[in-house]
Amino acid sequence: MRLTVLGACGAWPSPGAACSGFLVEHDGFRLVLDLGYATMPRLPSPETVDAVIISHGHPDHCADLNPLLRSRSLRDSPAPPLPVYAPPGALDAVLALDRPRMLDYDLRPFEPAVGPFRVETRPLPHWVPNAGIRLTAGGATLAYTGDTGPSPEIVTLARGADLLIAEASYVDEVPEDSRAYLSSARQAGRDAAAAGAGRLLLTHLMPGTPPEAAVAAAGFPGPVEVARAGAVVLVE
Ligand SMILES: [Zn+2]
Repeated sequence: MRLTVLGACGAWPSPGAACSGFLVEHDGFRLVLDLGYATMPRLPSPETVDAVIISHGHPDHCADLNPLLRSRSLRDSPAPPLPVYAPPGALDAVLALDRPRMLDYDLRPFEPAVGPFRVETRPLPHWVPNAGIRLTAGGATLAYTGDTGPSPEIVTLARGADLLIAEASYVDEVPEDSRAYLSSARQAGRDAAAAGAGRLLLTHLMPGTPPEAAVAAAGFPGPVEVARAGAVVLVE
């Protein structure tokens, strides 16, 4: 599996950067995990995306589904309807931005297989329904938390994964009013270690958060880094 980070800003995009989005490729199949603000222009060729999985309906994770669908539907030779998997109702708002039937897509509930990927999802605590996503292909496994507060389900989701992509909006402490719904780098490091993940990629840092502080707070014994747009990780 080949992972390309499209963007990794939490909440809103910093100048020149993008919010959450990851391109995952295997056997020529191109799957996009989340499409936050400003991720769509970072896709090398939007018309060749094979499927999209969205963790939850917050716009920093799904807003750029709109320009992706526009780019495929409004061209002279429209691309086939794009399979889009998401929690029920999560994409109602973004899909209502254009008039009915203008955009071609095939909205589906989560399924256990997408192209060459085995897909498992787990509900994780957030203000809106959020799915933790586990992808397995070619003997390698990647887990992604979306946005989540603390939950034992994170360790189950990431058990033995070669790579855990973990939301870490904050470094050490999550503010009281968000504590049940978002995570810190420190929590992410603990979960990754408890799950026996091979490698940890911290994402969704709030703009302005020093990446080196997040890496230090994670205290993860294996390789750990902060996701940066354009970074490529081979998961094997
Ligand atoms: Zn969110």
